[in-house]
Amino acid sequence: MVTRSSMPPMQEYFDEISSLWETRWLTNSGEKHMELEKRLCEYLGVSNVGLCVNGHMALECILEVFDLKGEVITTPFTFVSTTNAIVRRGLTPVFCDINDRDFTIDVNKIESLITEKTSAIMPVHVYGNLCDDEKIRKIADKYNLKVIYDAAHAFGVVKNGVGAAALGDASMLSFHATKVFHTIEGGAAIFKDSENYKKLGYCKNFGMTGPEDLAFAGGNSKMNEFCAAMGLCNLRRIDESIASRKEAALRYRERLQNVKGLQLAAVQEGVKSNYAYFPIVVKAEEFGKTREDIVSALSESNIGARRYFYPLTSSIQSFNGAYRSQDTPVANRISQNVLCLPLYEGLETATVDRICDIIINLVR
Ligand SMILES: *Cc1c(COP(=O)(O)O)cnc(C)c1O
Repeated sequence: MVTRSSMPPMQEYFDEISSLWETRWLTNSGEKHMELEKRLCEYLGVSNVGLCVNGHMALECILEVFDLKGEVITTPFTFVSTTNAIVRRGLTPVFCDINDRDFTIDVNKIESLITEKTSAIMPVHVYGNLCDDEKIRKIADKYNLKVIYDAAHAFGVVKNGVGAAALGDASMLSFHATKVFHTIEGGAAIFKDSENYKKLGYCKNFGMTGPEDLAFAGGNSKMNEFCAAMGLCNLRRIDESIASRKEAALRYRERLQNVKGLQLAAVQEGVKSNYAYFPIVVKAEEFGKTREDIVSALSESNIGARRYFYPLTSSIQSFNGAYRSQDTPVANRISQNVLCLPLYEGLETATVDRICDIIINLVR
């Protein structure tokens, strides 16, 4: 498997949910929900963590809270969710290229894409690598734009003592079952400003500001108590879980870093990673085989690997060819040659070695 969900001991989860049989309060900001928000604030070093039903709806809620219009500058090298959130909120995505070291937005190409319609920048912390927030902030301040991070990959990542979720005017975290930290399905919107946290509360509950008061036509994006309870259990073991991923990721790096024709994501200085993914970029002319050859060879041994992110979100069908992948050449090239190798809590060194042997032997 390319990934596997972390699970707490079964009894621990049972103990965590047992009080729900007494309170019979299963959703709508129950005690598990409130406790998880508090613990996440502590762990992530932020205020204003608003839990949501999933990461995608958290992203849509952030756009709703800011009531944005017009164009949003983003990258096509992401999961469809980022682009879909922009489109579904009636905004127009404007695609910026990525840099080829850590695959986050190329900050030197943002400014030329700004028009009088631009209202926000929505970059993605890809594979847990952080965007260049300092430069992005400068540009945003100059043009009075909101900065909203898709931080779905960046749970627990810290740069020089500052948590990733603290960056931007708002950040979205995903707590999907396949992520570093999960609540089965779930996510959070994190706001710099507590007033926006309050607005999120309305957004995720139909726009209701009181039992009989409706401020606007909102949707429903609340997290339930069983998911929040799973989060409380998983949060207790998150450091061990990340340490286990780290061991596997470092082993991959050790085995693959000197293989000709394989590019690994740059290690960012001053950044404590969460080891969310282990991507390799295959340079076929140098390596001698293509990404697809590696996928086939691994698949013959029943090993899953994921072309992620592929294809670019700018080339997905619903846009009817409105965007061209040639406009973002780096994103296009990385997307066509990147492969994420299996990485999850508990992945054994022997398995990592087997995977590396298959890849290396392919060109022996
Ligand atoms: C997982 C993910 C999302 C969506 O989060 P969900 O919790 O699955 O809705 C959005 N963006 C990125 C980059 C993701 O990896």
